[in-house]
Amino acid sequence: MTERFAVENLTKDYGPVVAVDGVDLSIEPGVVHCLAGPNGSGKSTLLGVLLGLVRPTEGRVVRPASDRIGASFQEPAFYDDLTVRENLDVFRALAGDPDIEWVKEVVEVFKLSRVFHRRAGELSGGYSKQLDLTLGLLKSPDFLLLDEPLADLDDVTRESLLEFLEGYAAEGNAVVVSSHRIDALAPVLDRLTVMHEGEIVLDGRREEIDGTETIRRVYREAIAES
Ligand code: ADP
Ligand code: MG
Repeated sequence: MTERFAVENLTKDYGPVVAVDGVDLSIEPGVVHCLAGPNGSGKSTLLGVLLGLVRPTEGRVVRPASDRIGASFQEPAFYDDLTVRENLDVFRALAGDPDIEWVKEVVEVFKLSRVFHRRAGELSGGYSKQLDLTLGLLKSPDFLLLDEPLADLDDVTRESLLEFLEGYAAEGNAVVVSSHRIDALAPVLDRLTVMHEGEIVLDGRREEIDGTETIRRVYREAIAES
């Protein structure tokens, strides 16, 4: 996978609010890339622009020709009136009938078999997130962009997701995960980008930021100093 997926000189205003302010960012294959920053720092807006859901005020998006882009947002998107199982069937068809072993693997990661026959609209916050993440992964995307995926998950599912993401990136896929806290992601991230008030205040590889404690400190300092 050599296709470029990037934003160049991106600015997004909402009236007087500058949500993203002159950002350059390129997404790379083979790494778990953590997009961190406090609430309101512009993470969701940046992901929305990358995905073509938010129109930039200024700047450019370079999107790959591949349509194998998977995503999950803060607000889950599925059919509330269908059961979990029926949602899986619909999204499998939309994803071009992926390999059944792959579907089983993803369902297992997110522990969905326990709620197969529940109406999706009645799921708890955690299971809603788990269903949404599963649907985003069905087409085995080359580029996986997850907005705050850890927020509603219990500890066991969170560990399961982190382990899965590490393996998925190691297979050569691009994995971008936003989070307003980095504690949970620090152990698995290969690259850390910190946003603050719409700007990128830190962007580096793990080798450059050596160690989980250092990543936490660098993150705090990046925000404090800006
Ligand atoms: P984050 O995901 O880091 O919390 P967001 O991208 O959601 O940050 O928000 C960045 C800024 O843009 C915030 O000040 C937020 O209130 C504002 N914002 C985001 N979306 C909208 C919108 N649709 N309309 C108006 N303001 C918005
Ligand atoms: Mg957000």
